[in-house]
Amino acid sequence: MIKRYPTKQIFVGNVPVGGDAPIPVQSMTFSKTSDVKATVEQIRALHFAGADIVRVTVPNEEAANALKEIKSQVELPLVADIHFKYKLALKAAEVVDCIRINPGNIGDKQRVAEVVKACSERNIPIRIGVNSGSLEKQFENKYGQTPEGMVASAEYNIKYLEDLGFTNMKISLKASDVQRTVAAYRMLRPKNNYPFHLGVTEAGTKFHSTVKSSIALGSLLLDGIGDTLRVSMTGELEEEIKVGKAILKDLGIVKDGLNIISCPTCGRIEADLVKAVAEVEERTKHIKAPLDVSVMGCVVNALGEAKSADVAIAFGKGNGLVMKKGEIIAKLDEDKLVDKFIEEVESEAKKHEK
Ligand code: SF4
Repeated sequence: MIKRYPTKQIFVGNVPVGGDAPIPVQSMTFSKTSDVKATVEQIRALHFAGADIVRVTVPNEEAANALKEIKSQVELPLVADIHFKYKLALKAAEVVDCIRINPGNIGDKQRVAEVVKACSERNIPIRIGVNSGSLEKQFENKYGQTPEGMVASAEYNIKYLEDLGFTNMKISLKASDVQRTVAAYRMLRPKNNYPFHLGVTEAGTKFHSTVKSSIALGSLLLDGIGDTLRVSMTGELEEEIKVGKAILKDLGIVKDGLNIISCPTCGRIEADLVKAVAEVEERTKHIKAPLDVSVMGCVVNALGEAKSADVAIAFGKGNGLVMKKGEIIAKLDEDKLVDKFIEEVESEAKKHEK
């Protein structure tokens, strides 16, 4: 069982982050934020894909001015990502549900105090987003782009806010590779109880990002570290959410929909298992009940897997078995197996809905 690190709970809009809250999956638009229509379209696509929170970049006045209109057209909690320009942070704080800044980058304490005051007045959190590639000079010079440098930067920025009496924050420590990312989060975790936003930055294209994020975020989540996450991918939106949700599901943190166990296939197989698994996946994707089901190519492992599966199927030569909780309930010709299997899965799912 995963024992989650006890963290303070904050709220990004109506979404709780930290404590015993579910782990929200978030993403970031790549439209120009000043282009309201394109940004709203991307946010809606993310919402439809299951995102819980969305971040938009606010690099200039036009983007800051667009936030109000964007906010009025979307339902997801909105985070504004701001670097250096405190006036943009002040403007965004009037509208959004969270601000990502690094106080050290804003510089002048008085300016940071103004941003903190604006966030406090609306009770919105700040995310301190440390990135290995943009550490403050003093930390880069002393530690290089190392986990130690990232942690030193985070502690410096945390203290900056704490000294102003502000503790409504979450922290991220992203590097572009797995080892530094994991090491930094692990190093900082025992030092405070702020919720952590997990991510590997600039993780690359769909394939590499999926691998890197699964390893890094998976390792941390198994350690009980992580209160919200983003899978960063080059040019992909919905896919980020899909992978983020799959990481949580495959770690057993989220119980949502079918957990389909399917055999890797081997020379023993006498049926078209690839087609059968694809059909099962397609025809059951609407099911939200957290059922374990297995689809196996022969009886070698099928009977063992079936014992812990709610519904299982084992193909043979021209026929096969359908099982429930390890009990054989039907022996049918191959062309009838998937239909019977799905009928049983749906009936089990209905029991969960009651
Ligand atoms: Fe091979 Fe059977 Fe195992 Fe599938 S379940 S990999 S067909 S031995």
